[in-house]
Amino acid sequence: MIRRAIIVAVIACIAVIPHAANAAPKRPVSLPQHPVTSVDGTARTSPVDGVGPLGEVWRVPMRRKEIALTFDDGPYPFYTDLLLHELERSHVVATFFLVGRSSQEFPELVKHIVADGDEIGDHTFNHYKLTKLSGQQIAAQISEDATLLEPFVGAPLTLFRPPHGRFDHRVVALAHAMGYDTIFWSDSPEDTKDISPALIVKRTLDQASPGGIILMHNGQYRTIEALPIIIDRLRSEGYSFVSVTRLLEDGRRYDGLNVKATPFMQ
Ligand SMILES: [Zn+2]
Repeated sequence: MIRRAIIVAVIACIAVIPHAANAAPKRPVSLPQHPVTSVDGTARTSPVDGVGPLGEVWRVPMRRKEIALTFDDGPYPFYTDLLLHELERSHVVATFFLVGRSSQEFPELVKHIVADGDEIGDHTFNHYKLTKLSGQQIAAQISEDATLLEPFVGAPLTLFRPPHGRFDHRVVALAHAMGYDTIFWSDSPEDTKDISPALIVKRTLDQASPGGIILMHNGQYRTIEALPIIIDRLRSEGYSFVSVTRLLEDGRRYDGLNVKATPFMQ
């Protein structure tokens, strides 16, 4: 109820105080190839490198060799079960950012993800580009996904990733007001493109770093083929695989990470 009241209040601000959006970037921000730059394109040199100017998380600054595998979209028949099999075989937990419409269609796959001990994040109900929607529509897309997924998880969702990586000030601030950390990535092999599993492995390893967040996608065989090699190689380099929530918690506990979204109203 409290979360709902906050959402209503934030949406009311968007509707009543149009100038509140003045602080937002003029155009929607598309993701940089290597997300080590802030939304205005300048390099970040702050001690909280990894957290963007809106409070969005790109990686978790830490010294410990922890890294998080994240899989966007789905769940999908065949691919999601195969992916879960690979993760389970390697005793690795991952974070799945699930789409509501697919989850509604394949609830058994959502149950399988939860039963395996993997984490679930909010990737909206319809996978629209949120920067094209009103504040009310953005909030509805996020909350409808959560309403569907939370009964499987048995707890409120706390992680959010906007579809297509498209975000602006409103998207991050609304998600924060609704109780989410907005999670991007520091390591993207671009596995939705038609590339070989070997190139997925190479790109992932080249970009790996302590506190890193790896973006991969549910629904592709090449990703599943690359996965065991990536896991073996990173483990041999001393990495352990953790959920995004664990990465955030360890960043706070050991390295003083402070994630805080920019307030919507200036
Ligand atoms: Zn997606």
